[in-house]
Amino acid sequence: MLRIQEEILKKLPKDKVSEVVFEGPLIVIYVKDKELFLKGKEIGAKLAKEFKKRFEIRIDPNLLPEDDVIKERIEKIVPKEAELRNIYIERARSIVIIECLRPEKITDEILEKIKEETLLIPKVKRAPIQSSKIIDAIRAYLYSVSEERKKLLHKVGEKIVAGWGTKSKRKWVRISILGAGQEVGRSAILLQTPESNVLLDFGIGVNNTGPDAFPHLDAPEFDIQKLDAVIITHAHLDHVGLLPFLFKLGWKGPVYMTEPTRDLAALVCLDYIKVSEQQNKQSLYSSSEIREMLKHTITLNYGEVTDITPDIKITFHNAGHILGSAMVHLNIGNGLHNILYTGDFKFSKTRLLDPPKTIFPRLETVIMESTYGGKNDIHPSREETEKKFLEAVKETLSEGGKVLIPVLAVGRAQEILLLIIDAVKQGILPPVDVYLEGVLWETTMIHTAYPEFLSKELKEEIERGENPFEAEFIYRASPKDRENIMNENKPAIIIATSGMMNGGPIVDYFRLGAEDPRNLLAFVSYQARGTLGRLILDGAKEVNINGELVKVRLKVQRFEGFSGHADRKELLKFVSKLNPKPKNVVIVHGEPPKPFELASGIKSLYKKQNINVNVYVPKNLDAIRLR
Ligand code: ZN
Repeated sequence: MLRIQEEILKKLPKDKVSEVVFEGPLIVIYVKDKELFLKGKEIGAKLAKEFKKRFEIRIDPNLLPEDDVIKERIEKIVPKEAELRNIYIERARSIVIIECLRPEKITDEILEKIKEETLLIPKVKRAPIQSSKIIDAIRAYLYSVSEERKKLLHKVGEKIVAGWGTKSKRKWVRISILGAGQEVGRSAILLQTPESNVLLDFGIGVNNTGPDAFPHLDAPEFDIQKLDAVIITHAHLDHVGLLPFLFKLGWKGPVYMTEPTRDLAALVCLDYIKVSEQQNKQSLYSSSEIREMLKHTITLNYGEVTDITPDIKITFHNAGHILGSAMVHLNIGNGLHNILYTGDFKFSKTRLLDPPKTIFPRLETVIMESTYGGKNDIHPSREETEKKFLEAVKETLSEGGKVLIPVLAVGRAQEILLLIIDAVKQGILPPVDVYLEGVLWETTMIHTAYPEFLSKELKEEIERGENPFEAEFIYRASPKDRENIMNENKPAIIIATSGMMNGGPIVDYFRLGAEDPRNLLAFVSYQARGTLGRLILDGAKEVNINGELVKVRLKVQRFEGFSGHADRKELLKFVSKLNPKPKNVVIVHGEPPKPFELASGIKSLYKKQNINVNVYVPKNLDAIRLR
């Protein structure tokens, strides 16, 4: 037993406690006494104050009623208007997950009653508006490995409190750039202190091949055996795409991310396997490593301060980029040095998300992205872009044409969808059928399960029961519907992956509709060199799709301004609003000369305000000592 466990036991009636265990950063006390269990909140709060840790008091699993008794009682207590969908009992951890469509209808009193009558700790989760295979599969899988997760989380927790009560004399903080140094893709940063080794993101070089698709695992300071934790900012492949591969290499430790990021990450990684297979490429990992990733994931909400190693506490904050995307604030050595790693972010309000905050209790170093940090990277305003987009869509529909919109599975798709839904409701667009396919349908359903990660307005709408994604003209299409949709003499909007047309259903829709001049191919995101999307955007008159020559006669238009990234103006505004002002700014995630142009922008900005700042634009394999 660790010293902290002994100290905690001293505060409790010994004969009534079965064990004190760790569940990652949480300390869980299992008790043998109903009275003590029902007073759990009070006891937990008292202990939290004393030990500066989070506590939860649960009943010894041996004292639990039978599963069917529990279910029956819960079904009786949960009010009809909450629209109960699923009950998952995790006996090993004495908790129950109650999944319903309207969790806001379950009050604290109801929860208290469930606790009293089942002796379980109830956790309420929102079900997506229509069944989502991936959410069902992930949740069911996690409950099925409850016992194993309990052991695993205990080990993680033991490591976090190791050395509790002692102080280390050595003080230094260092980062190594393993990927996304002077490039976009394969984001990975190793953060090291005398006591910790932590990875920030672990992405794939999406448009690279061979070793350049991987972060630099050959960096001398990287040792998978010494790694303590991995933190993932968001569910795009260039930030999370190789995480399952890390498990293939034998990694068995914890991964921290938000709950929507976990679901979306599983989905985009599964999709990555599928696309690799379709392209006859060997996938770097299989679904069993994605399950390992899920098993080792600890989810955190925005604003929740969490110990992840003996000397690092992290807090996630909204990044405004995609659903669940986070900036991570790292408090190292009890305030000795504080880092904000932005991941990808946007710094203005969108239909889907609020902009990130800029005020932090402490801040010495910012590690930030620079995708659009170049001198000329000024995006048109969102209003202007939306207007232009809707005009083009309206014109196409009125001519009887179809609108094809290539998108990434997460982010722009839902933003565009909300724009279209709103325009139809307001009569700006005529009534029209909108089709989504496969992975895109799933990611959209995931959005409906996590309103607390969406903009304030959207969250309120969903909690009032007015879910905008629930529009009756949105249809789920399958591959066999494609020909019908495209051949039917009726306007339609098709939103499909992949974003740069290097695979996915959009290619098929394009093949079927490319020769009809009434149709519109509307690009709403960046098209990299070498992709089919870029080829068409650059004006190709004929393209080869899987050996078939297709004439490009439809209208092609690019709409800038829908980006999920901050443009140069926003990047500089973010830095100027940061409070307190950082001493170091490390710029990553940008194609030269953009990161260098952003660096000079930041230097002159701070010079005007008479603030000294070190600005770094590291290459891959560069290391920076921050303290
Ligand atoms: Zn991203």
